[in-house]
Amino acid sequence: MYISNLTSARYAELSGKIDTVVIPVGSLEAHGMHCPLGTDNIIPERMCADLEAEIGDEILIAPILNYGYTPSLAKFPGTITLPAETLISLYSEIACGFVRWGAKYIVFMNGHGGNIASLTLASDMVAAQGGTVLTLSWWATFASDILKICSTQGHAGEDETSAVLAIDASLVDDSKRGVHMKKAFCLPLSGPGQVEQRYPDAMNGDSTKATKEKGEKLYAMLLEKNIQFIHRLRSGNHTDPIA
Ligand SMILES: [Zn+2]
Repeated sequence: MYISNLTSARYAELSGKIDTVVIPVGSLEAHGMHCPLGTDNIIPERMCADLEAEIGDEILIAPILNYGYTPSLAKFPGTITLPAETLISLYSEIACGFVRWGAKYIVFMNGHGGNIASLTLASDMVAAQGGTVLTLSWWATFASDILKICSTQGHAGEDETSAVLAIDASLVDDSKRGVHMKKAFCLPLSGPGQVEQRYPDAMNGDSTKATKEKGEKLYAMLLEKNIQFIHRLRSGNHTDPIA
């Protein structure tokens, strides 16, 4: 159920029965020259809409937090970055607010890599207030399943562009699709010139391989996985591996 659509009285009634709140989080930032600035928002919103259709009576869905931490792409028009400290406060205060209203489980449905560090710190703060938090960053959490559908991954690359195409193909400028396979060294790395090398056109990966069909397969897989992970979260078994 979408929390925004509920009256306060109905929320009070449901929050006594539904123990899980899903909070989508994203970013407004350049995604290559071909994908929309809101890519990291529309993908988690789509995943939430799919969850609503399938298990809407088991979860409460909060409004999206649609700005994130993205200093690496700040030079590209339309990118807005918030300080990490601001995001840690927003994520933790909002999640703790739902915990105070009765939620036991919080799921951050994350669309943007730059948010992960802030989500980790915020989650520890929510845990200290009694909430249990799961962060699902689709391209990372389910990378091995994505690579059964797409041959490559990347920011505005094959997987992400396919995910946008499946929502609305008119949002992608096909004439501007690009390829840039240089990614970060496989160890955590920051340094002068790194961003320019990794995201010369605000992207990496191979967006020329993206298709609407791959995007539709991605959402079918992600729905199944998201439900599996949310059910596992609520089962209390948080240590056994998920197949
Ligand atoms: Zn993205």
